[in-house]
Amino acid sequence: MNRQDKEIKDTTEISEILRQGRFATVGLCRADEPYVVTLSYGYDSERNALYFHCAAKGLKLDFIKANPNACATVVDDLGYVQGECSHRYRSVVVWGLMAIVEDLAEKEHAVRVMQDHLERDPELVRRNSPVTTESLEKTGFLRLDIREITGKKSAG
Ligand SMILES: Cc1cc2nc3c(=O)[nH]c(=O)nc-3n(C[C@H](O)[C@H](O)[C@H](O)COP(=O)(O)OP(=O)(O)OC[C@H]3O[C@@H](n4cnc5c(N)ncnc54)[C@H](O)[C@@H]3O)c2cc1C
Repeated sequence: MNRQDKEIKDTTEISEILRQGRFATVGLCRADEPYVVTLSYGYDSERNALYFHCAAKGLKLDFIKANPNACATVVDDLGYVQGECSHRYRSVVVWGLMAIVEDLAEKEHAVRVMQDHLERDPELVRRNSPVTTESLEKTGFLRLDIREITGKKSAG
């Protein structure tokens, strides 16, 4: 990293940024064409992966099928500082391979990970909207296996 004074090296803090994030902006590439798309995610710290859900077809799936390499960023936006021409932030950049999840048991796990990550009361959601085999079959799920992760924060 160019500005080493801004690098976050503490892996606990890096995990915390992933835990507090609600969506990731994911960069994909097909031949020499980039595509950047924003997705809600759930962080699975045991597997060191991010899970996403999506429609069963679409442009990002076409990109992933052509090239599973992905790079994503999550920002903890601490706000623009008026008069200082600067923005306070903590952020991470994740590099890895994006897998299309086909296995029903893993899809169910992905739902759980996302609910635990995104919902204030995941048990309530599970009670009110239990997942069905039909809904799992219809929904697309992605898993970004994290190969490398970097963290950075603004000065001050
Ligand atoms: C905060 C946030 C959270 C989101 N969470 C999810 C999620 O969990 N799951 C999910 O599937 N989607 C989510 N979305 C929507 C997501 O960004 C995509 O729109 C969606 O996944 C469809 O992508 P696709 O490649 O299949 O697009 P397609 O339906 O195939 O359409 C591709 C075309 O739509 C345009 N496009 C696609 N997405 C956007 C966009 N967001 N804004 C403007 N133009 C766009 C592309 O430029 C391209 O021209 C979220 C968006 C935001 C902003």
